[in-house]
Amino acid sequence: MTERIYIERHVLQGNKDMAKENSDRLRQHDILTLNFLSSPGAGKTTLLERVIDEMKSKYEIAVIEGDVATTLDSERIAAHGVHAVQINTHGACHLDAKMIAQALDRFDLAAVDLLIIENVGNLVCPAEFDLGEDLRVVMLSTTEGVDKVAKYPVVFQRADAVILNKTDLLPYIQFDVEQFKADVHRLNPDVPIFYVSALNGEGMHDWIEWLTAKVVKA
Ligand code: MG
Ligand code: ZN
Repeated sequence: MTERIYIERHVLQGNKDMAKENSDRLRQHDILTLNFLSSPGAGKTTLLERVIDEMKSKYEIAVIEGDVATTLDSERIAAHGVHAVQINTHGACHLDAKMIAQALDRFDLAAVDLLIIENVGNLVCPAEFDLGEDLRVVMLSTTEGVDKVAKYPVVFQRADAVILNKTDLLPYIQFDVEQFKADVHRLNPDVPIFYVSALNGEGMHDWIEWLTAKVVKA
């Protein structure tokens, strides 16, 4: 038991050191880096497609796609005309800083303004692994149920922004938006929450405005 705890600490410390190196490297190039987290199917890739279409004329965007298998998401992103690098974790349920360091070698960082890392769909361990990002954005979709905030508190506690997706489905399902808001703010009192439908574009304006302000400051 003691040894197992030691190994976990060791792994997390090694990751932290590598994350710091990534962060230094990214900041040297004034890149705003976003670590995007949600469970599978919440709509991260669909939202990213919208972000790219709204922002690519003004900013150079690079995307790292984390998935257990397949290049499906990076192909979707690349179809929008931005450079996307796929990391397949071959079973691992999160990205770590070393994987990101290797992916960074594939970009012309001097040209990039905004780097978005779509993490592996999982609300548990990605929360523990810093990648060197400036901001963590956590997305929940209405179909997952409001109880997921209380069930996966760490990821919400450490978020710099929270997005509720699939608001277009609210008339058809049981999801208490007021409870969601209260539960998120209980864990993370000042975090901004954005309510969007990545599918039909509802609510995108405020979210894009927030993100743009962060890119401009970086
Ligand atoms: Mg995806
Ligand atoms: Zn994991």
